[in-house]
Amino acid sequence: MSGKVWLIGAGPGDPELLTLKAVRALRQAEVVLIDDLVNPAVLEHCPSARVVRVGKRGGCRSTPQAFIHRLMLRYARQDRCVARLKGGDPCIFGRGGEEAEWLGARGIDCELVNGITAGLAGATQCGIPLTLRGISRGVTLVTAHTQDDSEPNWAALAQSGTTLVVYMGVARLAEIQQGLLDGGMPSAMPVAMIENASLPWQRECRSHLGDMARDATRFELKSPAILVIGEVAAAGAEQLLARTA
Ligand code: SAH
Repeated sequence: MSGKVWLIGAGPGDPELLTLKAVRALRQAEVVLIDDLVNPAVLEHCPSARVVRVGKRGGCRSTPQAFIHRLMLRYARQDRCVARLKGGDPCIFGRGGEEAEWLGARGIDCELVNGITAGLAGATQCGIPLTLRGISRGVTLVTAHTQDDSEPNWAALAQSGTTLVVYMGVARLAEIQQGLLDGGMPSAMPVAMIENASLPWQRECRSHLGDMARDATRFELKSPAILVIGEVAAAGAEQLLARTA
């Protein structure tokens, strides 16, 4: 009998957005490694587990990824059942794939459990349908922050005709705005900026592409936040649906 690691998406913050599968895995867990975007309220499902906080938010004090890898390996080799809790979905900007591969290469039984990613939850909480017949035929999840500091291809994204959901964008609003404008997106394109999606202290700022950096500064938008950029961010779903009728 050997240990196992569950790489679990804890959802965007609201503990009710946890999946039943995540709850089942947490109930079995003996050790829980928890990221700092995870709402600690989810720990009610594993009251007797050992909890290790391994948060590593950009710009904050961090736990190196290599250390987290080794910690998971050590506990799994002690035949423990380990739950690695990540915010949102483990495979959306969450390094879940990397961790699963690393553990798999060392013979550790590993299972990924989906969570509701912040972009989907944030939009829904604000009444924004990310796809909408006749208005938005798709959605693109994109990060504004990359390891090598390279910019996404904003021009291609501007031309994609899909709703854009931007993660890790708060520190780069001016660049995102300029990149999309240069790529041909109209400055009147609606934008919703959603901070702390699904939590009781969620805040939302509506703007337009041409004003979004200025409006976010006035609003004092803080991380964690997602940006929804597209026609669907304009107004409530009902008004948009009326336009498609
Ligand atoms: N795996 C996570 C994303 C981790 S990257 C997921 O699937 O949601 C971290 C980024 O996610 C943050 O910079 C922010 O853009 C976004 N994010 C995470 N939780 C959030 C929340 N509750 N509200 C708004 N944005 C959030």
